[in-house]
Amino acid sequence: MTNAFTYACRDCEGMEACPGSVTAETQEEVWRLMELHAQMAHNEDPAEWTQETRDYLATLIRPVSA
Ligand SMILES: [Zn+2]
Repeated sequence: MTNAFTYACRDCEGMEACPGSVTAETQEEVWRLMELHAQMAHNEDPAEWTQETRDYLATLIRPVSA
């Protein structure tokens, strides 16, 4: 049964070496944690992510049972 969503940073193109991953109950929460991770670990500003980038990242969020 799916009751959580997860994102593994290494699934993202160019981030294969990153061990970071986030899991949360809702996709909305996963997005917030992804943005926080990108800021802290990769010095990225999520405010600058394009719609294309967000569409790509959205495909990497997977349903899981936790
Ligand atoms: Zn990362």
